[in-house]
Amino acid sequence: MKYCPDCGTALELREFGQRQRTFCPQCQRIHYVQLKVGAGALIEQDGKLLLLQRTQSPFQGSWNLPAGYVESDESPLEAVVRETYEETGLRVEVEGLVDVYFFADDPRGNGLLIVYECRPVGGELRASQEAINPTFFAARAIPENLAGGGHNQAVRAWKKRSLE
Ligand SMILES: [Zn+2]
Repeated sequence: MKYCPDCGTALELREFGQRQRTFCPQCQRIHYVQLKVGAGALIEQDGKLLLLQRTQSPFQGSWNLPAGYVESDESPLEAVVRETYEETGLRVEVEGLVDVYFFADDPRGNGLLIVYECRPVGGELRASQEAINPTFFAARAIPENLAGGGHNQAVRAWKKRSLE
């Protein structure tokens, strides 16, 4: 955030309570910057994991889970079902929480990726505008170029569990 969303004045960094805060000198108020929240799907078939190749930046060309940001009017559970359908054509049911990953490597902002184990219950696997080449990878065949934003952490953790 560079400019005040309320008045358009250039924001400054000022110290409050020993933390640098984004401050509008015009409005005299702090604009807090919070973490972004994403939701992603681990979908397994015959011990293989579904990954998609990103068509857009950041991380263009790298592989990630079906995932997306959680909208302000939906729960993470709703988001993972919606995003999985948008990106893969698969209708899924959430089976459980896998883990929550903190990331600080995405130019769009730091955040949390909430990863759920999901089971396909319908639909047909297809590519989308954002994500192409949907492929089930065995643990030993997981691509090296994994996307940031928590995806690399989630996929490596899955791979480690699978090889144990
Ligand atoms: Zn302002």
